[in-house]
Formats: sequence, C-alpha cells, structure tokens
Amino acid sequence: MFLKGKTAIVTGSTSGIGLAYAKAFAAEGANVVINGFGDAAAIETERAGLEATSGAKALYDAADMTKPDQIAAMIERAASELGSVDIIVNNAGIQHVAPIDEFPVEKYDAIIAINLSSAWHMTRAAIPHMKAKGWGRIINTASAHSLVASPNKSAYVMAKHGIAGLTKTVALEVATHGITVNCISPGYVWTPLVENQIPDTMKTRGMTREQVINDVLLDAQPTKEFVQPEQVAALALFLCRNEAAAITGANYTIDGGWTAA
Ligand code: NAD
Repeated sequence: MFLKGKTAIVTGSTSGIGLAYAKAFAAEGANVVINGFGDAAAIETERAGLEATSGAKALYDAADMTKPDQIAAMIERAASELGSVDIIVNNAGIQHVAPIDEFPVEKYDAIIAINLSSAWHMTRAAIPHMKAKGWGRIINTASAHSLVASPNKSAYVMAKHGIAGLTKTVALEVATHGITVNCISPGYVWTPLVENQIPDTMKTRGMTREQVINDVLLDAQPTKEFVQPEQVAALALFLCRNEAAAITGANYTIDGGWTAA
C-alpha cells in the first residue's frame, strides 16, 4: 500500500476511467476524493466501497468542472478534511460529434470548460499544497486526440491538444519541487463516453451501430480491441511511484497502436 497517508483527487470519477483511477489509488491505501455527476445512491455505494478497499477515507465532492470557484473549494476541502492534496487526476470529460459548421456553440463552450479549462483551474489550486510538501503527482487524461485528429471532433481535439500543452508547461514550472506532471493518452476505452457518441456518429456518417464500432472506433486501433479502464489506471498508479520521479512532461499513449500507424 504505497499510497497510504496520501490523498488523491480524481475529477469525473463517478464512472469510466475516472472510477478505475479512484479504485486503483484506494487499493494502494490512499484517501480518495471522487467527483462527477450521477445517481446519488450509486455514487454513495462507490464511495463506501473505496473506503472498504483502502481502509482510509473517501469523499464525494459534486464540484462542477465548469465552475472555477467550485473547483478551488474542492481542493481546499480535501486539504482540510483529508490533510493534504498529493495527487490530482484531471479526468472529467465530455464529447460531442458534429462537423464544425453544425457544432452547437454551447457544446463547444462546455467541452473547452470541462475537458481543458478545469485542468488549469485544478492544477493552479493544487500546486501550492504540493509545493508545501515537496511532493506531488499531476496526471491528466488526454487522449490519442492530443496527438492526432478525427473529423467532427473539433472541440475535443482542441481541448486534448491543449491538455498536452498544459502538461508540458506545468512540468517545467514545478520540476524542482518534487512534483511531476504527465498525461495519459488512451485510444478508445469502453466507457459511457464512447457508448454515448455512437448514435451521433451513426447519424453523421449514415452507419449502423456495428459499423460505427468496427469501421470507425476499432478501425483506428490495430489491436482491434478496446482499451480497458483498469489498464489506464495501472499506468497512472505507476506514475505515482517514487521510481517514476524522473518522468515528467511526458505524454503516454495507451491506444492499442493507434498513433503508431
Ligand atoms: P465517462 O463518461 O465514463 O466519465 C466522465 C466523467 O466526467 C463522469 O464521472 C461524469 O460525471 C464527469 N463529468 C462530466 N461533466 C462534468 C462536470 N461538468 N463536472 C464534473 N464532472 C463531470 O467517460 P470516460 O470515457 O471515462 O472519460 C474520462 C476521460 O477520459 C475524459 O477526459 C475523456 O476525454 C478521456 N478519454 C476517454 C476515452 C474513451 O475512449 N473512453 C479515450 C481517450 C480519452
């Protein structure tokens, strides 16, 4: 349990990849703050399960990632109720699929706020706590779309390229403080975020559900398999180890070979 006594905050952790990160940190004994939307009873079940796994504390915080004041309040709550802010994972994200000339402006604004600006606000608020302890880990969930583009995802690709830039910049700023900053770039991971974009892709490309899965999603991945959330979480856990102290400013792909092609 190498994270005993440490606190990890994972944004967008009520489902998918974020929940897998939270479970991985709890399994190593960390206090965990989970965040995101969803059914209150289901969230409470997950929160209680994390405490049972870690033997430490787990909090749920409903901070909306479009609201900088709520983001700052979540960081301060973790520091005061759990004693420190050692690890943050900027993971909350949404998707919308449409050609740019048909892309709703409110969807664009939401994607930039949740997928990109929230990571800046989280990082800004967390770093003073990490500097005070001389140790910290900042992990950003980017995407294969931080490196390559796909049509009809202009806002998402912008946001993920931005996450890669934020990662590199902050890594340089905090390099002498024992704080590392890295991003993980998954290919297609089977989560609600992917499931939810199938209907729009069916519509914009005139395809069946099976065609979208096989000819659009898995077409990009040479392994022809979805990445599993637990595989992404395992990489994040490694980045938290002291053995990973020299890894900073990196962008790790975990995409079944997508961006090698
Ligand atoms: P998901 O839909 O399962 O989870 C998204 C999480 O974000 C949920 O907990 C949701 O409640 C939360 N969220 C949404 N809006 C929020 C807001 N305003 N404030 C706080 N929380 C909010 O999706 P996922 O696939 O697990 O995605 C997690 C991250 O991984 C995202 O950044 C996504 O871009 C990235 N990613 C996913 C894939 C994939 O194939 N699934 C691939 C590459 C990158």
